[in-house]
Amino acid sequence: MEEELALNLHLKDKSVVVTAASKGLGKATALEFARERASVLISSRNEEELRRAVIEIKEETGNEQVEYMICDITQPESIKQLIKKSVDLYGSIDVLINNAGGPPAGSFDSFEDDGWQHAFELTLLSYIRTIREALPYMREQGGGHIVNFASSSIKQPLDNLILSNTFRAGVMGLSKSLAIELGKDNILVNTVGPGRIATDRIEELDQMRANKLEISKEALVEKTEAGIALGRYGKPEEFGRTVVFLCSRANIYLTGRSLLVEGGLVKAL
Ligand code: NAP
Repeated sequence: MEEELALNLHLKDKSVVVTAASKGLGKATALEFARERASVLISSRNEEELRRAVIEIKEETGNEQVEYMICDITQPESIKQLIKKSVDLYGSIDVLINNAGGPPAGSFDSFEDDGWQHAFELTLLSYIRTIREALPYMREQGGGHIVNFASSSIKQPLDNLILSNTFRAGVMGLSKSLAIELGKDNILVNTVGPGRIATDRIEELDQMRANKLEISKEALVEKTEAGIALGRYGKPEEFGRTVVFLCSRANIYLTGRSLLVEGGLVKAL
């Protein structure tokens, strides 16, 4: 009886693809899946970073079923090959984690059509393409999990990040519509929005903001932390564990939801 009630994640040998995963949230999430004995394929553009990430994940988890493939997520042909490689390596695809680099910071006046187009292709169209490629396999095997990374901006827009604010809302709309359409196929689709998880991207944005306000980065971080319920930035692994939970057998009835992992940063209900 005890055994049946245990929160068993049942991820051993599940095939997981994580895009944009050479560092930051993608890599941390891949590492948490590897810790749970899943078979993981990570991708991004920089081969050196990918190679390093695979070594680190294997060393940290002792799981040898971790591979990489170069894939610029804005390139449709590259996406096709990525999903095919996952199937070639691990027999199928059980979990698809959609992530991408963040679009540039800026306000409405900062961008012409090409800036908007690129942000659309990077943060939204890339997810549509990976899902299109993965769906036939998930349907054939009778189910799967898709998690789309977004941002805390899906609940509360962020200053000077209009591209992110616009297209993350699109990701949320896509996820919700898909959850409804794919429920009959036993495919669960959720959005996860990080907020102030300590990665290179956040360092960069903090530095930009500190320069603009003419204060030190340390002073800016202190000010930001004061506005977070838990009083600190999150760690990438804390974000990754939430994603792993969503894609595990511990979650069989949560779909079409947008979850924030931001330590209580956003004040909206
Ligand atoms: P990060 O540390 O800068 O990592 C970004 C990752 O994306 C890298 O692995 C990078 O690898 C990859 N990447 C960038 N462009 C790519 C492309 N065209 N194709 C494939 N891979 C690409 O960022 P992060 O903090 O982990 O953030 C991940 C996402 O969450 C971003 O969209 C970010 O805006 C969003 N976000 C993060 C936070 C946070 O608290 N950290 C908050 C809100 C939103 P390569 O350079 O090797 O391609």
